[in-house]
Amino acid sequence: MSAGISIRHLNKSYGALHVLRDIDLEVEPGEFTVLLGPSGCGKSTLLNTIAGLDETTDGEIRIGGTDVTDEEPSRRGIAMVFQSYALYPTMSVRQNLTFGLKVNHVPRAEIGRRVAWVADLLQIRELLDRKPGQLSGGQRQRVAIGRALVREAKVFLFDEPLSNLDAKLRTEMRVEIKRLHQKLGSTIVYVTHDQIEAMTLATRIAVMRGGVVQQYADPQTLYERPATLFVAGFVGSPA
Ligand code: ADP
Ligand code: MG
Repeated sequence: MSAGISIRHLNKSYGALHVLRDIDLEVEPGEFTVLLGPSGCGKSTLLNTIAGLDETTDGEIRIGGTDVTDEEPSRRGIAMVFQSYALYPTMSVRQNLTFGLKVNHVPRAEIGRRVAWVADLLQIRELLDRKPGQLSGGQRQRVAIGRALVREAKVFLFDEPLSNLDAKLRTEMRVEIKRLHQKLGSTIVYVTHDQIEAMTLATRIAVMRGGVVQQYADPQTLYERPATLFVAGFVGSPA
C-alpha cells in the first residue's frame, strides 16, 4: 500500500527566485521523512511539488516507481494535511471525512468502513455529528488527519500540522502521529521548522537551507556526524 518517493534534480523557480536547487531525495516505502529548516528555505514548495500543487521547473518526481512529474494532484496517490485545518465549516465532521470520497465515487459501504476505522483510530467517534466550530484545536487537527487517512493514500504529506496548537497539545499530537505511523507503516513526508518534532518523529530528516538539502540522514547520524556547520547548529549538537 505505501510507496516510496524518488526525487531527481528537482528545481523550482518563481520568476527570478530560484527556490529549490537541484534536490535529490529517495524516500523508502514506509519511511517517516521530515523536511526540516528555517522559514523560507523551501520546505512547503518541495512538499507542494510532490503533491502536484506546484509545478516543477526541472527534474523528476516518482511515486511508487511511477513518474508523476506532470500528473495532476488527484492522480498521484497522495493525501495532504495542512497547517490550517481547512475543514469545511458548514459540514459535520462525518461530511468532512466523506466529502472527498463521494466526489471520487467510492462505494457507500466502503466509505462507511473507512469512516468507522478512522473514527476509532483517532478517537473521534463521538464528534462525527458536530461542526468544526464545536471542536477544540486538537480535535480539529485529528479530523484533518482523519480526512487524509480515509483516502488510504500511498503517501501522506504533512505541512506543519501542529504549529497552530499550544505546546501541550503539540506534544500529545506528536505522540499520536508517531503511534499512527508505527501502526499503519505509511510513507510520510512531514514539514516542520521544529527540531524536537523532527528528532522525535523522523526515521530520516532532510535538513534544508536556501532551497538545498544539506544532509539527509537519521536523527542520530545528524546529531553525531553533521555534514555542515549549519546542520550542526540546527539539530542542536554541541559541535
Ligand atoms: P518554507 O515552507 O520553508 O517556509 P516556502 O517553500 O514557503 O518556505 O518558500 C520558499 C521561498 O519561495 C520563499 O522565499 C517564498 O517567499 C517563496 N515563495 C513561495 N511561494 C511562492 C509563490 N507562490 N510565488 C513567489 N514566491 C514564492
Ligand atoms: Mg512552509
